Amino acid sequence: MRNPFRVVVVTGVPGVGKTTVLGKLAELAEEKGIRIKIVNFGSSMLNYAVREGIINNRDEIRRLPLRKQLELQQLAARDIIDTASKELGEGDYLIIDTHALVKTVAGYWPGLPKHVIDELKPDMIAVIEASPEVIAARQARDKGRYRSDIGGPQGIARLMEYARAASFASAVFYASTVAIVENREGAPEQAAQEILEKMLNL
Ligand code: ATP
Ligand code: AMP
Ligand code: MG
Repeated sequence: MRNPFRVVVVTGVPGVGKTTVLGKLAELAEEKGIRIKIVNFGSSMLNYAVREGIINNRDEIRRLPLRKQLELQQLAARDIIDTASKELGEGDYLIIDTHALVKTVAGYWPGLPKHVIDELKPDMIAVIEASPEVIAARQARDKGRYRSDIGGPQGIARLMEYARAASFASAVFYASTVAIVENREGAPEQAAQEILEKMLNL
């Protein structure tokens, strides 16, 4: 039911601050001497897509034909666990920066369906949240990324509702815990601290 190392899957709608919070978590873990490896699921998918020469930007992945996204999703899940298995042992932590639900051009699509969960076997699924208005403002400030397809505060609120449900659905397969963590404005280190405290009890 588990990988030898602890697996923490970190989810949340685009722009809520997952990658930022995990940067803080890396610092905290380093200070405390806890061995963690943080990987970005989308980066792994993007690597495969770039090698094929089909796209070169992470925000284009969710606009690929769904069969292609599924293939990339499967490759990424395997690659992440294969690599981690070579590097991590018991007592170590694998942290995966990803999405429980993706708003694709073909409809809302699970980021953690059974075939992915069968690879990751998560101990915990963290759902990073903030108010839809705050997330919209973060998206607007982050000029290097394209997230306007999520649809402003209303689209964000809808995606948050469905994504929470998707996280709980994914938790059922391998009895993962679900942790809802608020990423407060100006305080991503607080969210990181909360994840760390829960992680240490897995
Ligand atoms: P995606 O799923 O699209 O990769 P993400 O959840 O990883 O998004 P980030 O890239 O970490 O989101 O953050 C989006 C923007 O919000 C960035 O400009 C980041 O600096 C800012 N941000 C993140 N957390 C906070 C916070 N607690 N307070 C203020 N700004 C924040
Ligand atoms: P991110 O940098 O986290 O926004 O990831 C980039 C993109 O990768 C996302 O917008 C999705 O299209 C894709 N992605 C990330 N994680 C998953 C997943 N678990 N399943 C399917 N697609 C994913
Ligand atoms: Mg990110």
